[in-house]
Amino acid sequence: TTSSVNPMPVTVPCQYRTGKTLGSGTYAIVKEAIHIETGKYYACKVINKRLMEGREHMVRNEIAVLKRVSSGHKNVVTLHDYFETSHNLYLVFDLCTGGELFDRICAKGNYYEADAAALVRTIFKAVQYIHAGGIVHRDLKPENLLFRSKEEDADIMIADFGLSRIMDEDKHTQLTEICGTPGYMAPEIFKKSGHGKPVDIWAMGVITYFLLAGYTPFDRDSQQQEMEAIIAGDYSFTPEEYWNNVSDVAKDFVTKCLTVDPKKRPNATEMLAHEWLASEEPCAVRDE
Ligand code: ADP
Ligand code: MG
Repeated sequence: TTSSVNPMPVTVPCQYRTGKTLGSGTYAIVKEAIHIETGKYYACKVINKRLMEGREHMVRNEIAVLKRVSSGHKNVVTLHDYFETSHNLYLVFDLCTGGELFDRICAKGNYYEADAAALVRTIFKAVQYIHAGGIVHRDLKPENLLFRSKEEDADIMIADFGLSRIMDEDKHTQLTEICGTPGYMAPEIFKKSGHGKPVDIWAMGVITYFLLAGYTPFDRDSQQQEMEAIIAGDYSFTPEEYWNNVSDVAKDFVTKCLTVDPKKRPNATEMLAHEWLASEEPCAVRDE
């Protein structure tokens, strides 16, 4: 449970000076922050307490999860500090200056297959790590995957553990609340049949599809149609011109991640062993 993490230590927020806004999400605004004493730059997630009223436990949960996973893996964001004032909660993270994967995909149109495979392999290793620690992220999407620097080959980081949960292994607990971002949500979330780690594998399938094609597989005219398509696993590798240059191995990888039945969906370790990721050069010339 999350009750063990309070009370929060109250540090003086004026140790930091906030600067430009880096991004915003559902509950928070994230700003660049300078630690005055050291001059070091951080990212500060500012959460308005009034907006979060009745849901403060979500932030405490996020902190509990971050304490468990951050600093443990180079591809998971590091929580550096946290404190609160009467109005706000502040989470201070290492600054990722390279922006969201979302913006890189949009700028490129789509990724070359070899580059996509390299990214997906790195993210999957981080997913394998958080799953091994008993954490399910539940909001994996390109807006929550950040590049550490602006370099083309910068490390990619899993961020935003705001919807994540610590799963009790022995109790085989299943989560039932509906949450996440519709286009990336697994069928079992809509069915309220109970969900867990497999939802992250599904989201990785949607992300991989997005990387390869430049658009998402379940985009429909209405949210209702989108949900029905997800529950039915109704997507295809079309239009043809976007998928001509994508290998069958890559398509098979996406297909495995997007297995409708969560019990039959492979786990992170199994996906890492998939032929598309198993070799370091997945797109090496195939001359069969
Ligand atoms: P929310 O729970 O509101 O979605 P996030 O933790 O996802 O909040 O942060 C919102 C946005 O802020 C992210 O999508 C990203 O653009 C930016 N952001 C978050 N953390 C960092 C960071 N450590 N470095 C740089 N930008 C960040
Ligand atoms: Mg977010």
